[in-house]
Amino acid sequence: MSLAFCSPLDDCSPPNGRQDVLMSVPHPQQGAFPLFKFKDIQVSLHWSWLLVAMWQIERQRDTYEHLGWAIAQYVSLFAIVLLHEFGHSFATRQVGGTSDNILLWPFGGIAYVKAPPRPGAHLWSIAAGPLVNLALIPVLWLGFRYGLPQDASRDAQAFAYILQYINVFLLIFNILPIYPMDGGQILQALLWFKLGYAKALLIASGIGLVGGAGLMVALFYYTQSVLSTLMVGFLLINCWKAFQASRAMLAASASRQTMEG
Ligand SMILES: [Zn+2]
Repeated sequence: MSLAFCSPLDDCSPPNGRQDVLMSVPHPQQGAFPLFKFKDIQVSLHWSWLLVAMWQIERQRDTYEHLGWAIAQYVSLFAIVLLHEFGHSFATRQVGGTSDNILLWPFGGIAYVKAPPRPGAHLWSIAAGPLVNLALIPVLWLGFRYGLPQDASRDAQAFAYILQYINVFLLIFNILPIYPMDGGQILQALLWFKLGYAKALLIASGIGLVGGAGLMVALFYYTQSVLSTLMVGFLLINCWKAFQASRAMLAASASRQTMEG
């Protein structure tokens, strides 16, 4: 199974708007097919998803007798990712922010959100994604426990089991404290209450750099998966950008204080 990271990525404008963390993420609609619109949120699929999907489905082929189940598994993974992204989008709107686009791409999903510059608003907008996965645990379990017929095929049973595993895996993976994954952003929002935006970002991205580097080595060592390694590489690039931006913000505020003092 491929890893799917999903994140609410805004431009992380700090409250004072002096230094933005410009994330390396694809444009929500360029190179993507519009799939559908729900509550004014445009859901799009990046073209590269189709290529990676064919490759990943081919790898899953041996799990099932019939290819259709491997396709269903891959599509279901992204259906769960999409629900997670809607969690971010609706929570962001609930706290007064905006969210108009969700992109599905080979690394998972991205909800393009802009939460108001308050730690509490950010916290809810981020936490709502993993909370969707948490809520799905009993839903999937009950659904398959009581919804699956007694004489269900081996493929159907494997699918039901794997889908529950995928959901739990997505939950755990996304709450790893590796900025800008959800866990890293939750950590930053929590620290923001006490330390202010920039210092919180410095600490969260510093932890993210160490954790991300460790994760990359571990994934490569244990799975040799090119896709997973690339994905963590993508995370690390964005984590580094956040780290640099936080340092610039802190330096700017230190020099302002010197001038004022
Ligand atoms: Zn997320």
